[in-house]
Amino acid sequence: MHEFIYLAPNPRTAIPRINPFTPTGGICGVDQRSQYKTALGLAKRTLDYIARYGTPPTPHAYEVFYTVCAGLNPQLNEALGRVIAEHRHVTAEDAERLYQKFLSPQQLTQRVETIGAQMTNEMSALLSMIGHAAASANTYQTSLQNAEEQLSTNGGQNTSNDLLRTLMSATKSMAQTNAEVCANLETSRAQVEQLEDCLKLAREESSRDALTGLVNRRQFELLLDEAIHKSSATGQPASLLVIDVDEFKAFNDAHGHVAGDSALRYVASCIKSNIKGKDTAARYGGEEFAVILPDTSVEHAVSLAERIRHLVNARHLVKKATGESMGHLSVSIGVAECVKDDTAESFFHRADNCMYAAKKAGRNRVESTTPEEPVAEIDAA
Ligand code: GH3
Ligand code: MG
Ligand code: MG
Repeated sequence: MHEFIYLAPNPRTAIPRINPFTPTGGICGVDQRSQYKTALGLAKRTLDYIARYGTPPTPHAYEVFYTVCAGLNPQLNEALGRVIAEHRHVTAEDAERLYQKFLSPQQLTQRVETIGAQMTNEMSALLSMIGHAAASANTYQTSLQNAEEQLSTNGGQNTSNDLLRTLMSATKSMAQTNAEVCANLETSRAQVEQLEDCLKLAREESSRDALTGLVNRRQFELLLDEAIHKSSATGQPASLLVIDVDEFKAFNDAHGHVAGDSALRYVASCIKSNIKGKDTAARYGGEEFAVILPDTSVEHAVSLAERIRHLVNARHLVKKATGESMGHLSVSIGVAECVKDDTAESFFHRADNCMYAAKKAGRNRVESTTPEEPVAEIDAA
């Protein structure tokens, strides 16, 4: 195993929020100076590793190695460790793949924060526009009141030219303010609409797994809760599949992690092609998937699981670039149906136990639990 695998997050170096460009001299305090030194040390280590593993020093590659050296993302450390153990060097493609897999999702959070800040700015602009319009309406109302008073004091006769001029000017100014407010509102509306689209896209991305495009674990847990509540409210059944790729470590070891990643995409596509409508397929963890099946009894869920199992195993996998045969993949699937008083944990646990039973029984199979039949107590006397 490579040293990267053991690079545990170090509280002294794990300081993602420091600004490495803080000046050290003059007004800079002791804390800032020591943070600067730490950041500089990290940067040096980062460059050392980039040189050692022959990686072209692109900004993304730098970020990958920096994050690893700082121990900020243990999964990234593990994945980079696998690459190094396999190839002894890290290519630009490897670094980019790791960046896309582990770091690009983090930037999603920053994007959402930026959109939030832009929304806040847009709201402040709208509020100040509304304030401006209200002030202008007040001024107009005062002008009208003054005019009314003047009219009532001279009995509505002999309206002076001055009074008319004042009224016309106040009306013009009000019309101008209205036109400005309308134009600004239109611009703001277009901007808010654009921001809403960005937010929708970011939300959608944050609920997906980057490798397979399936729903990620966080979203899966929300949807599982929802499915349980719906099932108990409507009395309709709901079933759950837990799917684990068999002997996947050996597959990775034999064919490499890049092929491993493609194999995970292949399994995801086999699952996707078998579900429809309200069903949700998720990547639960590394090589584990789950499928939520609303309005589906355990019997139907088992036959769906069998179709997925069969499809995964039916194809002979071949490396596109080299034609190298990678044999057949298989999956073990556990199936459970939601029962009364189930929580997301208890429901998942039953399906997961079945998946382990399938592993124990020899892998490449489906195991299920049938909900206990309701008992009717009758008087036999
Ligand atoms: P079992 O049949 O008992 O499930 O054996 P297994 O080898 O599949 O299970 P184990 O938990 O020992 O290994 C899972 C492997 O999945 C180890 C890990 O390297 C691999 N893996 C997890 N996530 C990813 C990933 O995103 N990409 C790749 N290529 N491999 C992954
Ligand atoms: Mg597993
Ligand atoms: Mg497995």
